[in-house]
Amino acid sequence: MDTGATPEVEHDTPDCAGRWRRDGGAWRCTRCAAAYPLTPSVARATIRENAFGLLLARLTADGRAAIDGGSGD
Ligand SMILES: [Zn+2]
Repeated sequence: MDTGATPEVEHDTPDCAGRWRRDGGAWRCTRCAAAYPLTPSVARATIRENAFGLLLARLTADGRAAIDGGSGD
């Protein structure tokens, strides 16, 4: 396992809501022009970013009830 030094992928704009997608020989954002090479560390970062984006989308879509009812963890 890696000990740190995981490069974070960044969007061109900090509030970009795009998702990372494999396109040709690179990971590209679906909304801004950010692109990164297909490396394992970038793949891991994009997967994490995508998962976080999906989580936010779910919380926004149907999370109000969960938030009101408390997050049963
Ligand atoms: Zn973007």
